[in-house]
Amino acid sequence: MDQMKIGRFIAERRKANHMTQLQLAEQLRITDRAVSKWETGKSLPDVALMPELCALLDITVNDLLNGEVIVMENYKETSERLLMEMAQQKETTDKKLLSLEILIGVLASIILFGAVLAASFINMPAWARIVLILAAFIPFIVSMVFALRIEQTAGYYECAECGNCYVPTFKSVLWAPHMGRTRRMKCPQCGKVSWQKKVLSKK
Ligand SMILES: [Zn+2]
Repeated sequence: MDQMKIGRFIAERRKANHMTQLQLAEQLRITDRAVSKWETGKSLPDVALMPELCALLDITVNDLLNGEVIVMENYKETSERLLMEMAQQKETTDKKLLSLEILIGVLASIILFGAVLAASFINMPAWARIVLILAAFIPFIVSMVFALRIEQTAGYYECAECGNCYVPTFKSVLWAPHMGRTRRMKCPQCGKVSWQKKVLSKK
């Protein structure tokens, strides 16, 4: 998506509808600074605002994301390309999240390991050893929940039986036996239990 092109398009449509940045902003209950940021290509309008913004500019959401009014013949092709671009963006973000998950896991393990080492080899009262180890467990547990949450929501799990790709519930991810990122879960489509691989895109 070309943010600069979208910005120029918003400005052009706003002027065509005889509105100042402030007038457009007031209609959307946001600041004129936000409108100015869109128009200079520094940010994109929030998805939740898009329908109302498009109604005010007298364009479709498809036109907005494309940065120009789309003629009917190209309509299907353009929306398919946009959907594909959005899917690609999600894939890139998911990839980053899954790398972050590894980093979090490693860091939390180092903290816990360090605390256990310190409690074992540094001279301190027994209660201090217990407090130290318990304290190191807190970031460990927090990061495990965070990491599991990433694993649940980034990408999809693919059913080995029917090929269905889906996002499971947090509970089913939490209790599923796993080998690496492959988890043994029940498919919501065919109902069969199988080892399901993590995939970044739906096939
Ligand atoms: Zn299935």
